[in-house]
Amino acid sequence: MTLDPPTILALTVALAAAAALYLAVEWRSVREPSLLYWSAGFATITVGSTLALLRLNGYLMIGIWFANGLLVTAHFLFLLGVARFTQTRLSPLWLLMLAVWLGMLMLPADPSWSKVMLGVQSLLVALPTLRASFLLRPHGKSLSIGAVQLRFVLLIHGAFYVAKALSVLIPGTLIDLAAFKGEIIQISLVEGAMAIMLIALSMTGSERYRREQQIAQLAARDPLTALYNRRALDVHAPRLLAQVSAAEPGALLLIDIDNFKGVNDLYGHTAGDRLLIALSEMIRSKVPHGALTARLGGDEFVILLNNASTTQIVDLGSRLREQFQHLAAHTFATPAPVTLSIGAHLFDQPPATLAQLIEQGDTTLYESKRGGRDSIRLVDRTGVGHYRP
Ligand code: GH3
Ligand code: MG
Repeated sequence: MTLDPPTILALTVALAAAAALYLAVEWRSVREPSLLYWSAGFATITVGSTLALLRLNGYLMIGIWFANGLLVTAHFLFLLGVARFTQTRLSPLWLLMLAVWLGMLMLPADPSWSKVMLGVQSLLVALPTLRASFLLRPHGKSLSIGAVQLRFVLLIHGAFYVAKALSVLIPGTLIDLAAFKGEIIQISLVEGAMAIMLIALSMTGSERYRREQQIAQLAARDPLTALYNRRALDVHAPRLLAQVSAAEPGALLLIDIDNFKGVNDLYGHTAGDRLLIALSEMIRSKVPHGALTARLGGDEFVILLNNASTTQIVDLGSRLREQFQHLAAHTFATPAPVTLSIGAHLFDQPPATLAQLIEQGDTTLYESKRGGRDSIRLVDRTGVGHYRP
């Protein structure tokens, strides 16, 4: 098989069509708009590459100007997809690309036309591609590993087009867009076919990876409060507990709402849900960095601390109790006060298991409830302490 331009173009058409279809099918199950932009980009390349074949029949306006315009459009669609994927807003200035392309129609049709056209087209492909690659750079909320692959494929593809734009400046370079003549054109046809495969694969890879991460995250979180669930706590606690020593004791706070049923009974389950969410937010905002928090189920929450102290536990528990009691009393009038009971343990060696630690916490929490609720019961080296307002 000879790899003459029409053959490579036919291959490109097939690959781009397959990529467009693949990404569209992927979108049907994942429903992520970026996949739709990317699919549209490949569909545009399919049409553009088909039209590019027409230049051999002398249709230069459609076969060159229009077909290359579609290639630029496709890369712009890729950029739109990446902007969606990274949740970035693009500047409307990108529409200037359209004006530049329309301006090409004014060029006189002399031999230098091919070079100018190729140079401008290459830059218009390189710019959105490099911008897309730049959007995928690692920043604050780091992107998935899958996206890193897409970032580099786009970077190499964009750099290739910059080199292509610069190459037209080299004196003596033969470029004939009408007849697909010149090494630059031949090389870019092959590069195009390869880039389609790599870009399409890394696009689906990025989306799949992100999806998997989201699913894993959902499986680890309590759906109402978005705190860890018991399963996730089982996964993450061992690392924190293993660091516990006499110099850096660990702490467990088991928290249960007092008389919570009263809120559900008088104000409905949704109101009860709101109170659970409010408590989870209080917990989240008050725990120190490195602490683990989870909702064990119902109205029971747990906090695991490293490098803890008796003062820290009493201070954290008291602040939670006071703020919660204040909120509940002002929001829901109930016959029995809606407050917090806390059972806490300070320990200076790792417990045998997390389950055992929680069991001890449960016993202490029960004691706190029996002692009249709305209080912290703390077991530490020195014995048992009971703290209430
Ligand atoms: P106590 O003072 O002894 O803790 O009693 P309580 O009324 O707080 O009730 P208890 O802790 O024994 O039981 C928790 C209640 O929380 C039982 C259930 O009706 C309610 N509950 C459990 N899960 C949810 C939830 O997701 N949303 C709401 N609104 N209520 C829940
Ligand atoms: Mg309760």
